[in-house]
Amino acid sequence: MADAFKLAPEQDTLSKYRDEFVVPTFRQMKASAVPAEIADEPSTYLCGNSLGLLPKRSKKLVEEELEVWGTRAVEGHFDHPLGRDWMYIADQVHPHLAQIVGASESEVACMGTLTANLHLMLNAFYKPTAERYKILCEAKAFPSDQYAMATQLTSRGYDPAVAIIAMTPREGEHTLRTEDILSTIEKEGSSIALVLFAGVQFYTGQWFAMKEITAAAKAQGCVCGWDLAHAVGNVPLSLHDWDVDFAVWCTYKYLNSGPGGIGGLFVHERWADLAVREAGWWGHDPATRFDMPPQFKAIRGAQGFQQSNPSVLATVSLLGALQVLADAGGIPAVRARSLRLTGYLEALLQQSRFYVSPAQADVEGVKMTIITPADPKQRGAQLSLVFLPTGRGVMPRVLKGLEARGVIGDSRKPDVIRLAPVPLYNTFEDVERAVKVLDEVLAEVEKEGVPPPS
Ligand SMILES: *Cc1c(COP(=O)(O)O)cnc(C)c1O
Repeated sequence: MADAFKLAPEQDTLSKYRDEFVVPTFRQMKASAVPAEIADEPSTYLCGNSLGLLPKRSKKLVEEELEVWGTRAVEGHFDHPLGRDWMYIADQVHPHLAQIVGASESEVACMGTLTANLHLMLNAFYKPTAERYKILCEAKAFPSDQYAMATQLTSRGYDPAVAIIAMTPREGEHTLRTEDILSTIEKEGSSIALVLFAGVQFYTGQWFAMKEITAAAKAQGCVCGWDLAHAVGNVPLSLHDWDVDFAVWCTYKYLNSGPGGIGGLFVHERWADLAVREAGWWGHDPATRFDMPPQFKAIRGAQGFQQSNPSVLATVSLLGALQVLADAGGIPAVRARSLRLTGYLEALLQQSRFYVSPAQADVEGVKMTIITPADPKQRGAQLSLVFLPTGRGVMPRVLKGLEARGVIGDSRKPDVIRLAPVPLYNTFEDVERAVKVLDEVLAEVEKEGVPPPS
């Protein structure tokens, strides 16, 4: 069953892209429990959902830009020895972003950071009226998104407790049902100004039915926006065709741009002439930008929202990563391998003696279950594992045990460990090793015992 997912080496055509990345060794990741003879081998990094690995191409491009800075200084803006004039550096990234999110170049902008971009989009798109002022989102939205929504509301005189409709899964369930989201939109639609969800939920790994939710929101006259932090570079997106109004994302997760990398946003062509309220000189028509006219004239479309000249170092770091992705065949190729890697991980976990289905999560003893949807169309690379019994300190012990053996995942309190095999650099052997180590660690926890409920 599990073997059905695994590709034979000769069929695994994307496996060579692992060499394009720097994979930290066990020693570098401080894997204290691995034998000395393997300490300098690559660790088992399944944390690309949080911070993607360093592409060697990004390192090279950043080093080149530092060199150009040192040798050409201000001239680099217009006369760059490698043909990457800093003045137009973001334009090198825009075609890649357009491909990845399913948009035209004028619908995307490489700029800023996710949360700042979200505020810009909320200022542009959240236009409450007396009848229609609510925001529909999920109760477990990423905190930054919750803070952004709440402060946007309070600054306009709305009480978030009234103006936010926050959806929670049904009793005993971990993820939202599409039917429930759609029926809420239908029922409450006339009071909803904005529907704002994450494309892929950070905690559960659920990939929401973006096309259906967007269509339902639009049918009710709501604006529909998406936070694509965990979706971009992970799952196929067709933002233009789905008629999404706006979207924002960061690039340091599945797009491998590096810590704090430059963000991005999407504005549908239909809104190309939407007023820019927080204008900056980089959103001004490039033809006259350096004439420095007093009157702002926005670039049509998403790029009119640019404010500042972008960090060149951050932008080329992203560019290197996007070139690797494009070389590998882009999202369709990467998604095909992702389905296999994650399917393989799931199947091996289900074979573990510690695995129970989410419905059996009340059984006795040290166990694990998966709360990410089992349907591959409702998830990306990540699986979210819950460790049982919940609330009794099992998860932190498991995480520590994994780290000591060089299996790098990450935790989300109280009980979840997220594991994401990333198709550009993880291998089927990474997946096998992770599950084997997880079994060892769980056996240890079982042997040592779990404290009684307090
Ligand atoms: C990672 C993540 C963010 C991070 O926001 P930054 O502004 O890039 O720090 C925001 N929202 C979601 C859903 C995320 O997963």
